[in-house]
Amino acid sequence: MFDDLRDLYQEVIFDHNRNPRNFRVMENPDREVEGFNPLCGDRLTLFLKIQNNAISDASFQGSGCAISTASVSLMTEIVKGKTKNEAEELFQQFHAMTTGKDDQIDLKAIGKLAVLAGVREYPARVKCATLAWHTLDAALKNKEKSISTE
Ligand code: ZN
Repeated sequence: MFDDLRDLYQEVIFDHNRNPRNFRVMENPDREVEGFNPLCGDRLTLFLKIQNNAISDASFQGSGCAISTASVSLMTEIVKGKTKNEAEELFQQFHAMTTGKDDQIDLKAIGKLAVLAGVREYPARVKCATLAWHTLDAALKNKEKSISTE
């Protein structure tokens, strides 16, 4: 279902990789979690501000491949203003999309994140795409200071 849009999707990924959104250190974050994907070497630090149970700001630092950078850039954009529950729901949606569980996907909720649907065809890259989301999940649960996809 995503095939026709592949070229457009690749353009969006390149754009977010070249000009990552919210790529900055946050002063006094409420949450700060490091994420690491040893399979590829992707490393990022995610910063969140939480107000009234919602994510009022999100930013990141780090370095990784194009997929991981585009994914965390898109994620910081889309989760801003979302409640914790809404963000967790998006994580489930994103996970369903990257693992090919089409019947569980709400395309409207996924929105722009659909540009990363292609990773499902490259199992080694799925972790690059989901690293940002596993890091977000840890930040929202506020238990671990660092996570690894392995
Ligand atoms: Zn990667």
